[in-house]
Amino acid sequence: MTKSANLGFPRIGAHRELKKSLEAYWKGDSDAAALHAAARELRARHWQLQQAAGIDIIPSNDFSLYDHMLDTIAALGAIPPRFAGISDPDQLYFAMARGSAAAPAMEMTKWFDTNYHYIVPEFYAGQHFALSTSKALDHYREAKALGIETRPVLVGPVTWLSLGKAKDDGLDPLSLLDAVLPVYAELLAALKAEGAEWVQIDEPILALDLCDVQRAALRRAYEVLQPVAPRIMLATYFGALLDNTDLAASLPVAGLHIDLVRAPEQLATVLKALPTSKVLSVGVIDGRNIWRADLDARFALVNQAWDSVGPDRLEIAPSCSLLHSPVDLDGETDLDDELRSWLAFARQKLAEVAALSTAMQRGRGAAKAAFDASAAAAASHRQSARIHRPEVAHRAAQPTDLSRKSVFAERRVAQRDRFKLPAFPTTTIGSFPQTSEVREQRSAFKKGRIDVAAYDAFLEAETERAVRIQERLGLDVLVHGEFERNDMVEYFGEQLDGFAFTKNGWVQSYGSRCVKPPVIYGDVSRPAPMTVRWSAYAAALTDRPVKGILTGPVTILQWSFVRVDQPRSQTCRQIALAIRDEVIDLEAAGIGIIQIDEPALREGLPLRQRDWDVYLRWAVDCFRASASGVADDTQIHTHMCYAEFNDIMPSIAEMDADVISIETSRSDMELLEAFRDFRYPNEIGPGVWDIHSPRVPGQADMEALMRKAAHGIPADQLWVNPDCGLKTRGWPEVEASLANLVATARALR
Ligand code: GLN
Ligand code: ZN
Repeated sequence: MTKSANLGFPRIGAHRELKKSLEAYWKGDSDAAALHAAARELRARHWQLQQAAGIDIIPSNDFSLYDHMLDTIAALGAIPPRFAGISDPDQLYFAMARGSAAAPAMEMTKWFDTNYHYIVPEFYAGQHFALSTSKALDHYREAKALGIETRPVLVGPVTWLSLGKAKDDGLDPLSLLDAVLPVYAELLAALKAEGAEWVQIDEPILALDLCDVQRAALRRAYEVLQPVAPRIMLATYFGALLDNTDLAASLPVAGLHIDLVRAPEQLATVLKALPTSKVLSVGVIDGRNIWRADLDARFALVNQAWDSVGPDRLEIAPSCSLLHSPVDLDGETDLDDELRSWLAFARQKLAEVAALSTAMQRGRGAAKAAFDASAAAAASHRQSARIHRPEVAHRAAQPTDLSRKSVFAERRVAQRDRFKLPAFPTTTIGSFPQTSEVREQRSAFKKGRIDVAAYDAFLEAETERAVRIQERLGLDVLVHGEFERNDMVEYFGEQLDGFAFTKNGWVQSYGSRCVKPPVIYGDVSRPAPMTVRWSAYAAALTDRPVKGILTGPVTILQWSFVRVDQPRSQTCRQIALAIRDEVIDLEAAGIGIIQIDEPALREGLPLRQRDWDVYLRWAVDCFRASASGVADDTQIHTHMCYAEFNDIMPSIAEMDADVISIETSRSDMELLEAFRDFRYPNEIGPGVWDIHSPRVPGQADMEALMRKAAHGIPADQLWVNPDCGLKTRGWPEVEASLANLVATARALR
């Protein structure tokens, strides 16, 4: 009989209970016993909720106190030597995640193309592994004690090794496979002995471009593991298997899960490749977005699989773990009924999975209510005037000028003439400290405790203070400080049409940190200027140039839940045109320098290299559309803060910003090599102050970094600035650091 399955449930809790428990524990306000009790309660609640939703195959060990990759590090005893002395398992676990007085935290990075960050395993030559935690087993038993049979989830060995980092030169993490497999085998055998019939092993790297060593490792891993393990459901997700289809289908395991939301077209090829002995799990409900599914369309897809594999070899599931979805739409009491009818969070997605399996088992009529509601939502979605706004679509369909009036060499002359900045001009990235007072005033305003006049007066005073401090420090290009912004995307989303905001739509970003992405549900337009008031206010206070600060279209898109009824490129273009209008309005208000932040441009890169060019083309064009409406003597800046520019350097250059500021201090200017080797033609501000650290950088440190930068890049192209915005820092360190930064520039001159 066709079963419904889930691959993973959000851990954080509908009201971020896990966040609160973790933070209380870290602060010392509660002990480990209280933390574990809260976690156990969440697990029980989530298992019962999945059972109540009608899910036949419920996962365990998907819960984590911090991160599933870190859980795997702990389970395999892959403890980096700097944590060796810590004997308490909780202390050890959180020291790896967050650092301790004696040892810096392990690195973290983005999990595939999600906004979830995992802890990066560290590998050493000759590393030894041993089964070191019993979490998978404990959680399996814990569910069983509640009367719930579960399918334990593990990160697969090849994904785990592939996502790690070798700490010794010349070491290939995959060479450690044979050292890791016995530990996996021991764990899997223990789960089998405990009664687990199935396990889910995630190998999402199967959706990436693989090398021969990885392919061989996958084959070897499952040849070793399946004979001793419960039946293995090998889960792939986040994309199509493409050239890995035959490999994935032929690995010696009992089942294969595929993502049919990101890649519905792969069903036919997978069906052809899949041996008749295997179970196929079809991921047909989107685990990565918040839209209600069109159940009839999904039903047709499931039927196509059913025709080929039959009822007993089929499972219906979300596309991936629901870790990337908010928990429960029922908490969204502030959304209007129409908007709510278009959405589904984790709990609602499980109901969709269950409805599909009911329909497969007993006919569509047996799940009539769910199908009818889905069809009604789809119909209202197709027709809604809130979504489809002809004037917006019409404008986006017209060609827009994507180029500045003149080439950079000519613009540069006009800009130098206008601003007469000294060599090595100094500036900051936009935000100044969001002090507790700033946050308190904003919250008082939002709760109606102070009125708009009082709030604006406060913001004006903060802005003026920031301007005076920058003048006193001697910075060349000032900023207004972004005191009016809660978040660089939310601030714009709140002022644009086509966006909605949830009350509780939290998604885990890392550890206890969650984000609440805006929802882009309809055509995007800008009813009124968004930032001109604050930039103009600051500019009127001073003779020095004030830089306007905007968030770029790609970053706004990337950090939101985006509608799926039109291509992302089209939605991005609508945002780009709204930002373009803002840029033009800033220029008209006399703001001669405008920065359009695109920190998320690189993280939008598709998982497969063959898709990069198409993405980069539209992403760069959207940036250009937003930036190109101004005169030659208006200076456009952009800012990015992530590692690695090497592989996308031509696209960075094509953005054609007059000035780009980038994060470089943590990598000791290494990131600048790409700009040097490429002979990047425009101006660059390499960050000389690591704003992630509370440390005040000395003038000597910053001078050394700048001299290093000036080694490869002509001095007259260089700016001096911090790595990123200063919102998380305190004023005393900001003033001290910026004083040193200005002194650095003066020394260089
Ligand atoms: N202008 C933003 C700030 O200064 C940029 C933040 C970012 O790059 N993430 O805060
Ligand atoms: Zn930044």
